[in-house]
Amino acid sequence: MVDIKRIMTRLEELAQFNATPDKGVTRPSFTPEDRQARDWFIRCAEELGLSVRTDGAGNIFARLEAGSGPALLTGSHLDSVPNGGKLDGALGVVLALEMAEQLAPHKEELLSPLELVVWSDEEGARFNTGLFGSRIATGQVTQDELNNTRDRDGILLADALKGFARGDIGTARLKDTDYRGYFEVHIEQGARLIEEGFQVGIVQGIVGIARLIVTISGEANHAGTTPMNRRHDALHTAARIVLATRELGLKHMPGVATVGVLKPLPGAVNVIPGEVELSIEIRHITEELIETMVDQAESMVSAICSADGMRSAVRRIKSSQPSPTDETFRAMLTKAADQLGYSHLALPSGAGHDAQSLARIMPIGMLFVPSIGGISHSPLEDSRPEDIEAVANVLLEAMRNVLGLSAV
Ligand SMILES: [Zn+2]
Repeated sequence: MVDIKRIMTRLEELAQFNATPDKGVTRPSFTPEDRQARDWFIRCAEELGLSVRTDGAGNIFARLEAGSGPALLTGSHLDSVPNGGKLDGALGVVLALEMAEQLAPHKEELLSPLELVVWSDEEGARFNTGLFGSRIATGQVTQDELNNTRDRDGILLADALKGFARGDIGTARLKDTDYRGYFEVHIEQGARLIEEGFQVGIVQGIVGIARLIVTISGEANHAGTTPMNRRHDALHTAARIVLATRELGLKHMPGVATVGVLKPLPGAVNVIPGEVELSIEIRHITEELIETMVDQAESMVSAICSADGMRSAVRRIKSSQPSPTDETFRAMLTKAADQLGYSHLALPSGAGHDAQSLARIMPIGMLFVPSIGGISHSPLEDSRPEDIEAVANVLLEAMRNVLGLSAV
C-alpha cells in the first residue's frame, strides 16, 4: 500500500516552488520556479537510485533499471497556470515517485524497467503551446514551431527552452518499441466523481474536439424605423441556434456542445444585426459520436436558418481526434479498484492531458482523483487525502500487475 503521508508531504514541498505564495500556485514553464520544481524531482529520483536524463524538450525521465524489454512509463507535469492549484500535474508526478518508492525494493522481480517522466510545459500558459513536451516526444512539433513561437514579452520558445533542455528536439523523440505503456493520474477537474460519490475515476479516453464556425446572414437595417414584423435579424436566429446547441449536447451526454463565440455585426446599438458569426464546439469520446453530433449540428443550423429565411454557411475549423485509453489497462485498473474495495466510475476526460499525446505511440491508462467542488486551475483546487490514497493504491496494483508482481 502507498504511503499517503509521504505523498501529502511531497505535494506540500512542491507547492513551495511558487511565484505567488498567497494566491495559489504560479509555476509557468521555463521560469525559476519551474527550475526549482524540476531540481526537486531530480533530487527525489536520484535519492531513489534512479538514473535521470533530460531530453531536447526539457522532459525529464528517471529510470529504474529492471528486467528486460520495453519500460512502463508514468508521470505528468510540473508547470501550472497562473494562480492555479497544487495538484494539477504535480499529483501525477508525486504519485510516479511513490510508484518508484514501492517498486524499487522489488527490482529483482520486475519484468521490465520502470520510467518516471515530467513533461515540459503541459499547460502552455506562457507560449500557448499545450502539451508541448509530450507532443515533441511523439513527433507532433516541428523545429519551425519552436523558432516561431514567442511569449507576451517576445521571448522565443526556442530561447526559453535553452538551459532546460539537453540537446536538440530530435533527442526528445520516443520510440514506441521502447515502452509497453503509459499511466497518468490527474485530478478530475470536474465534479462528477465527488457529486456521484466515487473515489476512483477510470478514464475511458480523452475526448476529441470538432469546431464549427457558423455564419448567419440576414439583413441589417435601422433599429428604430424597421417594424418588428419586417426584420431579418440574424441575431434572433443565432439565439435559437444557441438554445438548440444546448439541446444537442444534452441529447449526447457525456458529449458536450458549446457556443463560445457570438459576434453580431455590425454590432451597433441602433442597427439590427445583419450577420452573426458563432462557434459550435463539440467534444466526445469517439470519432463516430463526434461525427454524429457534427452532422446533427449542421442540419440543425440549416433547418433553423431556412425556417427564419436566413442564409447560412458552416465551416469546420478544427478537429482533434479522441484518445481512447487501452482496454487491457482499463480492465486492470477496474479489477484493482474492485479488489481493493474502492468505488469507481468510468468516465471520459473533457480536458486535454499529456496521455493523449502518448496514445499515438503506446497504450495509455489514466486515473482521476475526485476534485472537491469540481474546481481546478484555481487556488481552491483540492482533493481529499483518502481519495488520493485510493487512486494511488489502484495505480500501484495495476502497475504491479503489468510488471509481473503478484497481487499484494
Ligand atoms: Zn494538468
